[in-house]
Amino acid sequence: MPRRTQAPARQQARQPVPRRRMTTRRCRCCGELKAERAFERADQYRRRVCRKCRRDNGRVYYRANKPRYRAANARRIAAAQSLVAARLSASPCVTCGEADIVCLEFHHVAEKEFTVSELIFARRRSLAAVTKEMDRCVVMCGNCHRRSTAALGRWTLHRVSGVPVPTVPMMGAPT
Ligand SMILES: [Zn+2]
Ligand SMILES: [Zn+2]
Repeated sequence: MPRRTQAPARQQARQPVPRRRMTTRRCRCCGELKAERAFERADQYRRRVCRKCRRDNGRVYYRANKPRYRAANARRIAAAQSLVAARLSASPCVTCGEADIVCLEFHHVAEKEFTVSELIFARRRSLAAVTKEMDRCVVMCGNCHRRSTAALGRWTLHRVSGVPVPTVPMMGAPT
């Protein structure tokens, strides 16, 4: 941590690079004088409330509004699930034509970032992100998906089974 005091003249001669002055600012929330890096950058300026206060305030706000946050999250999940159901209903298995959506899965044929359910539940992503991920997939039933994974992964059981590889339009890595 750089000291605020100026170095003695003879030391300055040995260090020609001027030491950057440490700037501080006072937090509008806790009133403490803190180093500039304690304040988050936002676009062209730094925030006037320190990181710690923003974090603490956010927690308080979340606690106070928890039911609203939870309801919004439940609505997002429900909307994402109906998107998924609509997509699966419209797309029977590309290999065998299975149409029962309970048996259908997304098989990535373009670069995979996350599975569709990871996006919805773990990563809490938007409906747009879910749609984008579904667009990277073809729909396959669980059996055909397993067979294609086994074939692509050269599973021993697939080699000895002699079952032909399901035909899938492959554009990217197997998933
Ligand atoms: Zn503060
Ligand atoms: Zn199938």
